[in-house]
Amino acid sequence: MASATVLSASGGVYDVRLDDGTVAEASLRGRLKLEQRTGDRVVAGDRVEVEIHPDSSIAIESVAPRTSELARRAPGHGRRARVIVANAQRVIIVFAARDPEPKRRLLDRFLVLAEASGLDVLIVMNKIDLVDESTVDEFLAPYVAAGYATLRASVRANTGIDELRDIVCGSHSVVTGPSGVGKSSLLNAIQPGLGLRIGEVSEAVHKGRHTTVTARLIPLDCGGYIADTPGLRELGLWRVDPAELEHYFPEFTDLLGTCRFKRSCTHIHEPDCAIRNAVDDGSIDRARYESYVTLYEEAAEQKV
Ligand code: GDP
Ligand code: ZN
Repeated sequence: MASATVLSASGGVYDVRLDDGTVAEASLRGRLKLEQRTGDRVVAGDRVEVEIHPDSSIAIESVAPRTSELARRAPGHGRRARVIVANAQRVIIVFAARDPEPKRRLLDRFLVLAEASGLDVLIVMNKIDLVDESTVDEFLAPYVAAGYATLRASVRANTGIDELRDIVCGSHSVVTGPSGVGKSSLLNAIQPGLGLRIGEVSEAVHKGRHTTVTARLIPLDCGGYIADTPGLRELGLWRVDPAELEHYFPEFTDLLGTCRFKRSCTHIHEPDCAIRNAVDDGSIDRARYESYVTLYEEAAEQKV
């Protein structure tokens, strides 16, 4: 028996990386195949025990309990969430200061997804060489106020690259963000060739080779993994329980339960709402609150 990490899982084929660094294809042992059908899927990021047979075929014998699950909620209440990546520590959400213009609403969606999965977050604003410092400050201010870790970067000016490398080395991060913001460039700056490999995965997915949401872990030379999750970008598919949404805006946390209608307040139309009062007095950012309202209404609509 040997320990390994699942790099990708697609169509019953598992790429695994043994702890000695060897990468190989593996299959699932019979008992696990059965569980696979009942919903306990083996996914990228899973830590597994494998048996290496004399003919050098490899079988996954067991899966270790997960420390985290990055998941899209499955529709309806009875159905389980669909796990995209297991055991990730953080989500790195990359936006560009310009080209393409950063969109708060989209960032807020990514943040809710990360919060719902209980992962740490790093917001990276790349291409800061294209704008004034004050433009970057202004965009990031509400996120800094909400307690998020942020990093200003420019691949062109070689800013923030060493910091990003220090953060990702030795840990397991998921990278996401709109296309064109410089994800591949950032990853190449950290480790030559890395961004290219990530790009290939995205490309394959966009051409429809994989029909389901899939992810791939890329081992880092400095230890740890970067995962690309192309399916995360189709966020329209993703659902959240509207009653849970308030927990995914960290700047709301201290006020929850202090509205007139206590825990049943939706913070949308009720009188004496602590959240809306905080928006009016400026202690909660209005654009962040508007994202909450949009996502709440969307979630409520999908629920019926
Ligand atoms: P991805 O789609 O997120 O992987 O983005 P790419 O890494 O392919 O980058 C998209 C474009 O932005 C390319 O033309 C890059 O050269 C450019 N780019 C990447 N980083 C920077 C940067 O820091 N500053 C500027 N000005 N351009 C950048
Ligand atoms: Zn309220």
